[in-house]
Formats: sequence, structure tokens, C-alpha cells
Amino acid sequence: MTAPLSTWQRDLTRAITNPEELLANLGLDPGLAAPARAASSAFGLRVTRSYLARMRRGDANDPLLRQVLPLADELLETSGYGADPLQEHEATRAPGLLQKYAGRVLLITTQACAIHCRYCFRREFPYSAQQTAAEAGSTRFRDALDVIASDTSIEEVILSGGDPLSLSDARLTRITDALAGMRHVQRIRVHTRQPIVLPSRVDEGLLAWLGGIKRPTVIVLHANHPNEIDSEVRTACAKLRAAGITLLNQSVLLKGVNDDVDTLAQLSRALMDAGVLPYYLHLPDRVRGTAHFDVADSEAQRLVEGLGARLSGYLVPRLVREVPGAPYKVPVS
Ligand code: SF4
Repeated sequence: MTAPLSTWQRDLTRAITNPEELLANLGLDPGLAAPARAASSAFGLRVTRSYLARMRRGDANDPLLRQVLPLADELLETSGYGADPLQEHEATRAPGLLQKYAGRVLLITTQACAIHCRYCFRREFPYSAQQTAAEAGSTRFRDALDVIASDTSIEEVILSGGDPLSLSDARLTRITDALAGMRHVQRIRVHTRQPIVLPSRVDEGLLAWLGGIKRPTVIVLHANHPNEIDSEVRTACAKLRAAGITLLNQSVLLKGVNDDVDTLAQLSRALMDAGVLPYYLHLPDRVRGTAHFDVADSEAQRLVEGLGARLSGYLVPRLVREVPGAPYKVPVS
């Protein structure tokens, strides 16, 4: 018999995937649906109802809507933008296992996400070729685990995707149980947007999984705008903190979403109120179809200097760019 769906799984099944429904919910011009359909043929629209509820009705420029509504701009070819701007294929150590930096590896656990962010650097990631770790047959999963088990320089395993919290608690447990016997793996990190876009994901089952990991665990959230942080998100973060999880946030600097000092300062304050430290502010990766989100380096630096003039140092995220082959995320200065 199939197990009944959890609340968060039911919420996921109710996500909006067609532009007409999204626009109707927001009272927006249905004429925006045709370009959205054209632009979403390769990477579909997807947004949770919880995230939708935080958008302003009647505002086509709402900063949360801009992150999820496909635009005709995505169809423009721009020189210097491609399918794999970070050359992640070069970093593959086993199917579903990437190593970019010393001491830590990324397990690509799933391709599923609760929402589809239009600027996503993995929007063209070849998930099926990578046989993502938890979705793959046991042999492929074992290949990735064998690499981690045999390389004692790996101190930290990062569960990535897609969004790893799209997996059931049972699948997450299978992954961390497999890592449990590797004593050189000292920390587990989870990169996820779900507590922000689907706060119901932080339920008893997830907390039980986290409690069972028995080693320092860091969750790196992904919020870009203060309007993303509402009371449900704050409650979800409070539960994670009460479970002993260190919470950090990485944002992406996006034109038309958060490219002004006021917005970034409010985001840092909202994160701190939720017990989350702002960590990185990324310049967007140059993935095809996302050039309209770009902010010039000089403007990005001006924004971060503006933040520094207003906020305590620990509330100012580090402005970075990922450069293929570099040994760490490169500060933009
Ligand atoms: S949640 Fe993360 S992986 Fe998923 S679409 Fe958004 S940026 Fe990409």
C-alpha cells in the first residue's frame, strides 16, 4: 500500500505550473502567458502556492514573480552565455558526484525543485546523464559513495540538486546512513530553497532526519528578497535552529529583483531576525537565457559598499562569483 502524502508533499503537488493560472491568481494581463509559454518549453514554470501568496497582486514587476515568470528575454542568445557556464562536467568524480574545491564534494541528489528559478545555473544540467545519487539505481549511488569512502581528504559532503529536500525523509536517511560510517566525513551541508519557498517541508519527519545525522550540519538557504521571509519561514527557521542546525543564506544578485541597497539591507535584517546569517551574494552565473538578470560588477560592488556603510559587518554578505577551476568562490573586488 502506498504511504499517504505528507502535508508538504501535498503542497508540492499543488504547485502552479502553467502561466495562465499564475497570472490569473495575481490579477495580471493574460497576454503575458504566451511569451511565458514560449520561454518555458525547456525549463518549465513552477511555483508553490506558499511563495505565490507572498507576491503583490496586480504588479507584473513584483520581485518574487520576476524570479519565476518566464520572459521572452530568455529566448535571446547572448555571447558568453552557455549551458554549463561553471564547466561542472569537468568536476565530475562519479555520476552524481562533483568536486570543485578541496575537502568537500557535492552529491547531486535529485533534479526536482519546489520552484523553478529562472536564473538557475543548473537549468540545463544533464541530470539524467549524471544519474542523480538518490534517484539512481543502487549501483550508481554506490559509485559515488565508494569515491567518498575511499578519499579521506573529503571532510564535508554537500547535498545538492535540484533541491535535496524534494526527496522523501526515507531517501534522505538512506543517503546520510550511507555516509554515517565514513569517519572522515565530519560535516553535512544541505543546499536548499525549500524552507523559503515551501516552509511546510520543515516538519517532524525532516527534523527527525536531521536529528539522526549526529554530526555538525549546516543548511545553506537561498533567499533573494525580504518579501520571501514571512512568518511561516521564520517559524521553519526557528525549528531548524532549535534542532541545532547552523543556518546560512546565499543570495543571487538579480537585476529587477534585489539590485538596490535598501532591498539588500532589508534582506539581511530579515534573515537575521529569522536566525540566518547572510553568507554569500553571488553574481549570477552566465547560463543561457539569463542575461537579463545581470548586474555589472561595478554596480554590484557599489551596492555592497552601500551595505557596509549601513549594517554591522556580519550582516554584509560576501560578494562572490564562481569561476570554473578556481579553488574557491572568487571575491569580487
Ligand atoms: S531552487 Fe535552486 S536548484 Fe532549484 S531552480 Fe531554484 S536555484 Fe535552481
